[in-house]
Amino acid sequence: MAKVHVFNAGPCLLPEIALEKSIEAIRDFKGTGVSVLSISHRTKEWEETMEETRALWKELLHIPDTHEVVFLGGGASLQFLYVAMNYLEHKAAYLETGVWAKKALKEAAGIGNAYAIASSADKNYTYIPKGYEIPHDLDYLHITTNNTIYGTEIKEDYDCPVPLIADMSSDIMSRPVDVSKYQLIYGGAQKNVGPAGVIFAIIRKDSLGKVTRHIPTMLDYRTHIDKGSMFNTPPVFAIYVMNETLKWIKSMGGVEAMRKRDEEKAALLYSEIDRNSLFVGTAAKENRSIMNVCFVMAPGHEALQDEFMAFAKGHGMIGIKGHRSVGGFRASLYNACELSDVQALVDCMKEFEELKK
Ligand SMILES: *Cc1c(COP(=O)(O)O)cnc(C)c1O
Repeated sequence: MAKVHVFNAGPCLLPEIALEKSIEAIRDFKGTGVSVLSISHRTKEWEETMEETRALWKELLHIPDTHEVVFLGGGASLQFLYVAMNYLEHKAAYLETGVWAKKALKEAAGIGNAYAIASSADKNYTYIPKGYEIPHDLDYLHITTNNTIYGTEIKEDYDCPVPLIADMSSDIMSRPVDVSKYQLIYGGAQKNVGPAGVIFAIIRKDSLGKVTRHIPTMLDYRTHIDKGSMFNTPPVFAIYVMNETLKWIKSMGGVEAMRKRDEEKAALLYSEIDRNSLFVGTAAKENRSIMNVCFVMAPGHEALQDEFMAFAKGHGMIGIKGHRSVGGFRASLYNACELSDVQALVDCMKEFEELKK
């Protein structure tokens, strides 16, 4: 098979070593003679893996003792409901920066009083709104730090006058985060830290238990903190692959090193988009994501879109079709993507430009 370059938006490319270790564990989990797919989650060997995975999260993101990490099923989409169930009492605000933010808001609005504090829908979510007033009586403000579909990103940790909750599905572990500034950080693992099937939630422990509603057992974060994410059968294999992915991040120098690597990849691709006469970026420059790079054919060259797609495919590019709500192209440069993959895409864009001269 010819060399391929994978830019899938999610599930993401995973480090080779994590795949190899996972294959080994499917055959034999830690020398137990039992596959990780069949191991009881009540064994000592599994409990150690669970503990180690939590410890890796805490170490890599410098998570303070005030916060706990849990791993659950249901996807980031079910977390939209968890957020409202556990925190919405009087009023909550959502920064509407894309489809995921809108979906999070919709779930909360079904539970109580939740509204969009600002929105970038007027320009198809190509920028991050700023300058809005944050009322002091909010239960929380919800933000989506990286807008996977539109390629915009909030790259700093906001100083927020009310409890801050962030969906970091698609930029977690791509940069250092000041966890102390958040009441809750959550996301699906499949964008940057593992396969589909598990979510992470980093929860400020003293933030829980303040709403008056009855919270069903499975939707109550306290259940999962108390039981170490083993109230019911955890997504064992997805957690295992995440564990190996985190070990790879650590071996590469942690999130600080990931940030450097990811910025370098993004800069390479954005500079080609800005240079190449056939393409333009869609996101406002100051809000450009380092994870998902969105671009379209430049005005006057729209008719070349399908031809470039076929050309890129012929050169081994996989997963660069833009989301249907943006069109054009999207290259997702998650942690495991190499600079050489991005270089291959850039070369492909250059070659295509030459061809069209
Ligand atoms: C993909 C994505 C989601 C949804 O994740 P699921 O695990 O598929 O529910 C939510 N938020 C963001 C920012 C995403 O990129």
